Amino acid sequence: MANYNLLLLPGDGIGPEIMRETRRIIDWFNAQGGAHFEIEEDLVGGASYDAHKSPATDAMMDRALAADAVLFGAVGGDKWADVPYEARPEAGLLRLRKDLELFANLRPAVCYPALAAASSLKPELVEGLDIMIVRELTGGVYFGEPKEITGTGNEKRAVDTQVYDTHEIERIARVAFDLAQKRGNRVHSSEKHNVMATGILWKEVVTRIHDEEFSGVELQHILADNCAMQLVRNPKQFDVIVTDNLFGDILSDVAAMLTGSLGMLASASLGAAGSDGKMKAMYEPVHGSAPDIAGKGKANPIAMIDSFGMCLRYSFNRGAEADLLQKAITNVLEKGLRTADIMQAGLQQVSTGEMGDAILAELDNLSA
Ligand code: NAD
Repeated sequence: MANYNLLLLPGDGIGPEIMRETRRIIDWFNAQGGAHFEIEEDLVGGASYDAHKSPATDAMMDRALAADAVLFGAVGGDKWADVPYEARPEAGLLRLRKDLELFANLRPAVCYPALAAASSLKPELVEGLDIMIVRELTGGVYFGEPKEITGTGNEKRAVDTQVYDTHEIERIARVAFDLAQKRGNRVHSSEKHNVMATGILWKEVVTRIHDEEFSGVELQHILADNCAMQLVRNPKQFDVIVTDNLFGDILSDVAAMLTGSLGMLASASLGAAGSDGKMKAMYEPVHGSAPDIAGKGKANPIAMIDSFGMCLRYSFNRGAEADLLQKAITNVLEKGLRTADIMQAGLQQVSTGEMGDAILAELDNLSA
């Protein structure tokens, strides 16, 4: 039987509540006997600061580096507003991304049919939507140097630097084409080659990787501003969109909102394969620690549970189990069960734990 080591990092706020439900789902898969998930748990963010005066200890990082995959809840909250900047809860997340070298951020925008009415777009535009945005996560304008504000008084100058090297574009392009082959076999590469040098290089490199290694995948280039428009005009035309750090930040939020609630959105961050051939990976919901509802049983655990589904699919190549989990979530929503964030008139509101119960019951049904 295949054995996988998972490190769970619940974090702060609603993190522990949604991770509790996810752990029950993992236990369910363990009980089925198809694979064995060995679970370790550790502190991160504010919870780690409270215990160790650090948001990401070296011991936790060692466990993260040794794990086959990391499941991350959420970090942050007002409680830690006054801790030193370098020890703030979010620094724990940034250290994980940096030390695991997570350069590819995968943000699916999937619209469950039962939630189509909750989108800001017309239901027919989003029903059945299934897009994957692949965002470059460790380069571009957020990290380029120089990054500074110079001058004094009323006439200062601010500089950010957008910079990409060929190898950074090559590796993110490969992730996108590889994913497309497992999905709809189509990639849109998005940049602004009309006004940016990085856009010219991006387009050139993506085209070469396509022609040399993935010529069976359909590739289209689209300017990032047009991509934003098309996402709200006719989102179902897209399968995989690959783009840089800045445009990806924006386009993935646009795509996310097509699907309704923050509580439904999972994500994956993938790194390069290590010397052992294993790819580092971390899976987390898109939302934060939601301190306004923490401890009240109101959090929607689906984004976290679905993040484990992505882990099954992308780290462990267990597509059948990932499909089963997705089907269980779909059925629960079809039956009208809703946490408060996705509640609609006439449906049944449930707590975090009850949503977990319902998904587990559906898994039992589907595998009976
Ligand atoms: P947030 O995502 O935590 O919450 C925004 C709103 O969405 C809130 O009203 C919240 O109740 C709701 N919400 C979020 N997730 C939900 C869920 N699963 N179920 C139901 N409702 C949900 O963003 P915020 O309020 O801007 O930030 C709160 C804290 O989280 C801050 O400290 C911020 O820095 C941190 N944060 C952390 C991460 C992360 O850990 N990856 C990401 C974003 C924000």
